[in-house]
Amino acid sequence: MGLFGKGVARICAVVAAPSARETATDLRRALRETPTVELRLDWLKSDSERRRFLDWLRRNRARRAVLIATCRRREGGGLFAGSVAAELHWLSQAAEAGCLWCDLEIETLRKLPPNSIREHSLPPRILLSVHDFERMPALNPALGGRWRREVDAIKVAGAVRTIADSARLLRFAARSPNTVAVPMGEIGLPSRVLALRQGSALAYAPVSAATAPGQISLSEMKQLYRAHALNRQTQVFGVIGDPIAHSLSPLLQNTGFVARKVNAVYVPFLVKNLLDFLRSAPDFGLRGFSVTLPHKQTILRHLQDCDSLSAKIGAVNTVVVRRDGSLYGCNTDYVGVLRALEKKLPLPKSRVLVLGAGGSARAAAFALSRAGAEVCICARREHAARELTRAVGGEVIPRRALRMESFDAILNATPIGMYPQAAISPLAPGELHCRIVMDLIYRPERTQLLKIAAHQGIATVSGVEMFLAQGIAQWELWMKCRAPEKAMRRVVLAALRQEERGRSPS
Ligand code: NAP
Repeated sequence: MGLFGKGVARICAVVAAPSARETATDLRRALRETPTVELRLDWLKSDSERRRFLDWLRRNRARRAVLIATCRRREGGGLFAGSVAAELHWLSQAAEAGCLWCDLEIETLRKLPPNSIREHSLPPRILLSVHDFERMPALNPALGGRWRREVDAIKVAGAVRTIADSARLLRFAARSPNTVAVPMGEIGLPSRVLALRQGSALAYAPVSAATAPGQISLSEMKQLYRAHALNRQTQVFGVIGDPIAHSLSPLLQNTGFVARKVNAVYVPFLVKNLLDFLRSAPDFGLRGFSVTLPHKQTILRHLQDCDSLSAKIGAVNTVVVRRDGSLYGCNTDYVGVLRALEKKLPLPKSRVLVLGAGGSARAAAFALSRAGAEVCICARREHAARELTRAVGGEVIPRRALRMESFDAILNATPIGMYPQAAISPLAPGELHCRIVMDLIYRPERTQLLKIAAHQGIATVSGVEMFLAQGIAQWELWMKCRAPEKAMRRVVLAALRQEERGRSPS
């Protein structure tokens, strides 16, 4: 068993609030999820709030809780404006109120005489913390200096600028006993999830306010990623893109793993530089990953193998990492379009208009052509439309001709109508002469284009159908078994609807 306990106890909830009342409420919330909680006394807005909270804590001792008191001074990156002596005073008050641990920043230790830490009536266990909000600190055995022998554990929080930085930090934690690795910044997010798997003694997650950039909330850390349950046998998957923060793929894929009881996790990688990611992927033991904008085309250059249709489309959205480390790419956007549309329309000999000539339009055009449909392309750059129709054997339809043409289905493969421009439609009502309209956009679920079509009595297919189908196809490719489709669909629809409720004016 580790220093902080095992299982969920290794997730440390961070309670950071300005008033005693909010701190107490957040502590209660945190203890419902994990027994290990950091109390950020420096976030309390005054000494009287600190006193009030610690009095409350003394009266309401949580027996099995492992509480870590922190009163970080500004010099160490915290909010406490007081002196070193005042910080030590509050930490000793926290010890009296039942805190087993305290976090002492190296900036404070530097101000104390040698071997004097234990002369203060601090909580019995000390976590020495080293923060660098600008870069990754030098990760060597000398980190923590002469104080290392006087404390029980060390926490290293470094700003992560590259994925290689976060991989180095996790390797350091794996080699050094009783070390907590905290990769800060959005690029470090996957490492926060994987920290416990890779050997960190704790993983921090805020109950409400984020106290460091790139933090993951306590409920996501526990319920979405199950960080506490990950171990060396856990298969790691991910999605790479920029931006990536709002991706629903982690929810989709992780729900599938939980429903099928597979020991696997799926994390979002913010990838600015593809080579940085590819070099570090073995460190995370990645078995496969999804690829989204802007890497769908450029990833092709780095694959050892690729299915022939993806090569023709010129884009890959799914990579399988083979046992020998080689990368095999394929395109499930293609499968997604087919599965979503086939439910409503027999594709052979149908006439389908694709609006746009970008990445997903290419996947749709190849998919439709292969399924036996006659493909028409309408794009603002006519030469892009011509090039695509040459590749799939279709026809270019100029925008001005749309009022006279009719189709079995029209597919929007442009971003027009996506949040935040949800009120606009790529086509006018007079341009919709068809039986079915499908929008590839899924934020919002019902786009303006779909609303206009429905108003005209035309059947509609939301982009969420394609999103689900492409993601489910990825899951099955990696897991080599049927995906729990119902559970995966339910969570994604619920998340999208909750998002929409959050957007609509109350
Ligand atoms: P992309 O490669 O950038 O292509 C976008 C296409 O739309 C290009 O042909 C572009 O024309 C055209 N376009 C952009 N703005 C336009 C405008 N104002 N007027 C006319 N044409 C315009 O993007 P993509 O990857 O294909 O994605 C397109 C949409 O599909 C996005 O909304 C994306 O979210 C959605 N999508 C959904 C799924 C799903 O699972 N449901 C999967 C993939 C994509 P130019 O080349 O002239 O710029």
